Amino acid sequence: MGVKSFPLTKMRLEELAKQYPAPFYVYDEAAIRANAKKLLKAFSIFPSYREHFAVKALPNPFILKILAEEGLGADCSSYSELALADMAGIKGEAVMFTANQTPASEYQAARKLGAVINLDDITHIEYLEKHAGIPELCSCRYNPGPLKGGNLIIGKPEEAKYGFTREQILEGFGLLRAKGAGRFALHAMVASNELNLDYHLETGRILFELAVEIQDKTGVSLEFVNLGGGVGIPYKGEQEAIDWDELAQGLKKLYDSILVPAGLGGLGIHTEYGRPITGPYGWLVSRAIHTKSIYREYIGLDSCMADLMRPALYGAYHHITVAGKENAPLTETYDVVGSLCENNDKFAVQRRLPKIDVGDFVIIHDSGAHGRAMGFNYNGKLRCGELLLRPDGSVIQIRRAETVEDYFATLDITALDTFK
Ligand SMILES: *Cc1c(COP(=O)(O)O)cnc(C)c1O
Repeated sequence: MGVKSFPLTKMRLEELAKQYPAPFYVYDEAAIRANAKKLLKAFSIFPSYREHFAVKALPNPFILKILAEEGLGADCSSYSELALADMAGIKGEAVMFTANQTPASEYQAARKLGAVINLDDITHIEYLEKHAGIPELCSCRYNPGPLKGGNLIIGKPEEAKYGFTREQILEGFGLLRAKGAGRFALHAMVASNELNLDYHLETGRILFELAVEIQDKTGVSLEFVNLGGGVGIPYKGEQEAIDWDELAQGLKKLYDSILVPAGLGGLGIHTEYGRPITGPYGWLVSRAIHTKSIYREYIGLDSCMADLMRPALYGAYHHITVAGKENAPLTETYDVVGSLCENNDKFAVQRRLPKIDVGDFVIIHDSGAHGRAMGFNYNGKLRCGELLLRPDGSVIQIRRAETVEDYFATLDITALDTFK
């Protein structure tokens, strides 16, 4: 059970806010590095291991560069994400390109970067061949369908749009080989924000057994299995984080009992974790700018769901603390809300919190993944910037806040002048 902490004092925030007015995101570089090291150490028990950080979780090239320095690769799903990985110096097979209804131009970009292409459907083999050519190394994404239980965010695998069926995957590898591929990998991603260790071990077991079946039935010997992402983080203080060592050791047991006897003891393990890599080490810092008392008590922030959508989108819980009031008694019950014209623009509903005054810094925890990344401009909202707390205690800006000029950048205003 974890106590939620924030690495900057109220005084430091006041100082920072003079240069970078709230709201902003803050990421803790030292904590991100320490976590990446811990992950790699835990998984070093496999003959080979690679983590491809899911770029969609925190698509900032400064963060990607930090992770690359620690030895992590990238998992991309769009042209822009490939460009971000490239910017951070992540290239070649350190990049996994997980396709899904992907246009030809993006397959071509992935090929150009030398990324491992992870196919989402059997029909995409021909599509890839036609538009970008079949690479030497090909990965296929498996959807276990009714073999695997459901998960809250992704739902039941048999209702999910992703991946090949079991029959298709056996046929797919044969097809790829016939078309000239010589190296193969198997992928699955069947959960999101799942904190149950057994769920992830079960995914490992299904994939390991399938790797054996693929070898037996098609003669294709896989180079690696990619277990995808989906490892959750304890958004609530009383939840337990998944321990990297426990996860790696649990998977190793299955590896030793399923793969090794089948002669697949050299199989590499890959993952594409996003949320557990950066999620706990990012915070959205806002100021309380209004208090409102009607049928409920409200705290109005200078940020809104355009900056952090998870609570509105999934009813997700994010822990909230108030700078300088970390130990104050929780005497109030508030809805903590933003300024968007949608009633679900609430960071917290009926939350017990200390008394909040206008001007207080309100810290929204565990926002380092799928936070700023999911931001949008609905209602003309401008997304906030991102700051990085360096290991030496200094703070730098790694993305500025949007301006109204950014919002209008896609409009041709001069054409408007002559438009009648
Ligand atoms: C979103 C996603 C991930 C990362 O998921 P997390 O829950 O952030 O770990 C990995 N792989 C694929 C294909 C994804 O779509």
